[in-house]
Amino acid sequence: MMNKYRLMSPGPTPVPPEVSAAGALPIIHHRTPEFGEVFTRVNENLQRVFLTEADIFTFSASGTGAFEAAVQNLFSPGDKMLVVNNGNFGERWVKMGRAFGLEIVELKYDWGVKADNDEVAEAVASNPDLKAAACVLSETSTGTVNDIKGFAEATRDVITIVDAVSGLGACELRTDEWGVDVVVAGSQKALMTPPGLGFVSVSERAMAAHEESTMPRYYFDFTAAKKAYAKNPPQTPWTPAVSVIIQLDLAVQQILSEGLENVFERHVLLGRAAREGIKGMGLTLFGPDEDMNSAVTAAYVPEGIDGKAFVGGLFREHGIQVAGGQGPQEGKIFRIGHCGYFDAYDIIATIAAAELALEAQGFDLELGKGVGAAQRVFSKSGAVA
Ligand code: PLP
Repeated sequence: MMNKYRLMSPGPTPVPPEVSAAGALPIIHHRTPEFGEVFTRVNENLQRVFLTEADIFTFSASGTGAFEAAVQNLFSPGDKMLVVNNGNFGERWVKMGRAFGLEIVELKYDWGVKADNDEVAEAVASNPDLKAAACVLSETSTGTVNDIKGFAEATRDVITIVDAVSGLGACELRTDEWGVDVVVAGSQKALMTPPGLGFVSVSERAMAAHEESTMPRYYFDFTAAKKAYAKNPPQTPWTPAVSVIIQLDLAVQQILSEGLENVFERHVLLGRAAREGIKGMGLTLFGPDEDMNSAVTAAYVPEGIDGKAFVGGLFREHGIQVAGGQGPQEGKIFRIGHCGYFDAYDIIATIAAAELALEAQGFDLELGKGVGAAQRVFSKSGAVA
């Protein structure tokens, strides 16, 4: 049977049709009032999504590029950065920091385990020369969301960097209120935009650190970005991914018209329904069964089932693209992404297809039990009529 394609990965994610269509518009030049109007609006609206009054620099790069920009602009070689590593992306920032000559204080947890902010505070206290501390909001490799409010409290004496690549626009993150100095994000997840843009919000304290930093840099230079943003109308120093910025403008307007608090609530429900659906099927969740984990849901592939064949079959036989496990979890877990343009029926369809795919592979389950459990979350909440 023909199946519709459903992208249920934790990034890139599906984009609303209007956002898709905007990518096909004629290219406009980036040094014109027309682009300036879009860029001014998008910068102001991004501040409403980041919940910050700080500058947010947009780079034509992916999230990793945006994190690299933070490293290049905030530090000098030999500086010390604490990094929470409880998954693939925490691990990436450890490696990146070392690649740039930083001394890394690594706070390592098993994948799927949340950072303990008392231990973070102890690590800060025992490293008085620490310059910054980094933590991932939503660790996409596991679905686990770290308590960033507590992390920012524990690290308030140093520059706080948060990787919100999959979390921003899905999970609660109150940048200024919680005292987060630097938030790193990307366009292709909860911001409902194609891949191609990376963002870094920079507090005044972080900007002051930038002014002292001696790390070599050129393309990702905050000073060059700030100078270009100060022009009238604001610009980027180099040619930006114009079409993606125009798409982002529409996507961010959609987020704000839904209302950021409603967006957070929708994600909580999507996560809860995904977890109940997984448990209803008789599978085991990977990571804590908590409403905080609202961007990505990870579960163990049941014993006796080939994880890669399951994920591949979901796509080939049912049109549903979920993600497999990364690193040590490859083949062992699968991940359902629901950060961004997702609704109740995306989750219900995914659980329904997972039941069919597992049954086809000989897993003993009762069709509909997972689907019913997911549906009940939505019906109880009144989110669907
Ligand atoms: N950080 C997190 C939490 C992510 O989920 C990702 C991408 O999946 C990245 C960083 C890296 O972003 P990119 O692939 O856009 O470079």
